[in-house]
Amino acid sequence: MTAQIIDGNALAARIRAEVQGRTDALKARGIVPHLVIVLVGDDPASQVYTKHKVNDSEQTGLKATLERYPATLSESDLLERIRVLNGDSSVHGILVQLPLPKHMDAHKVIEAISPAKDVDGFHVSSAGALMVGQPGFWPCTPHGCLRMLDEIGYDLKGRNAVVIGRSNIVGKPMAMMLLGRNATVTICHSQTRDLRAHTLQADVIVAAVGKRNVVTAEMVKPGAVVIDVGMNRNDAGKLCGDVDFEGVKQVAGWITPVPGGVGPMTRAMLLVNTIEAAQRASG
Ligand code: NAP
Repeated sequence: MTAQIIDGNALAARIRAEVQGRTDALKARGIVPHLVIVLVGDDPASQVYTKHKVNDSEQTGLKATLERYPATLSESDLLERIRVLNGDSSVHGILVQLPLPKHMDAHKVIEAISPAKDVDGFHVSSAGALMVGQPGFWPCTPHGCLRMLDEIGYDLKGRNAVVIGRSNIVGKPMAMMLLGRNATVTICHSQTRDLRAHTLQADVIVAAVGKRNVVTAEMVKPGAVVIDVGMNRNDAGKLCGDVDFEGVKQVAGWITPVPGGVGPMTRAMLLVNTIEAAQRASG
């Protein structure tokens, strides 16, 4: 069997077109959806990510403002700025780019964002809303993964899903989303004994580890759906995921590539959360 590829670029393009349509409709009512991205310090990767977020927003008609502050900004000044943004009705989404400088408590900063504007979905309120099945903002990466499963029409009900990785922004919310779709979910992590025994039972595998070749062909049940969240570099310095793509492709039914899989979906889902925030705020 050769797996079908789930094309994240193509799906993300369709999602951006949907966002554009929703943005146009809001603008026709005089509302300009507005995302503010706060970048503290000069981490090179963060500079690239925030630039992408601004470009993606502007290309779908959303207004995006990048606020840059030096690494020396005090935590209290950042908290004060977030307080002002929370109260500004022309701002619908607030995203504080992580990581923050060492002298700041990222948890405290994220908790300062109004849950109504938490388009990254990292606030405890957002996590709680996901846990109890209430409306909130879902973190972009697992949300994008779920949209990929929807795209192929995959019915998760009663299926075995294995999520490898338990971070607060990917693994845990992914598991909750799969559970919300009535899958039977196993979360694996670095202390899991015999990972292969779990993955071999899985109809769906989501790998969110950050290590190459965590999932290889002999770990995958024939026909399974394999979603690769990982972002790593191979020996040639090229971007690759956690999954041995060439090997697993021969066994899986569906597979996401890296690059061109979860990455563009993550970017697209931020736009979805932002337009959603603007629509909720406008009633
Ligand atoms: P993280 O916070 O470092 O979490 C990694 C998880 O992997 C941890 O739960 C860890 O277990 C587990 N793990 C480590 N080694 C393992 C092993 N050998 N077997 C099983 N589990 C193992 O990372 P993250 O933020 O969730 O990100 C994960 C990956 O996704 C990274 O490569 C990141 O760059 C990528 N990512 C991609 C996107 C995208 O848009 N494509 C977005 C976000 C993240 P413990 O909890 O026991 O330590």
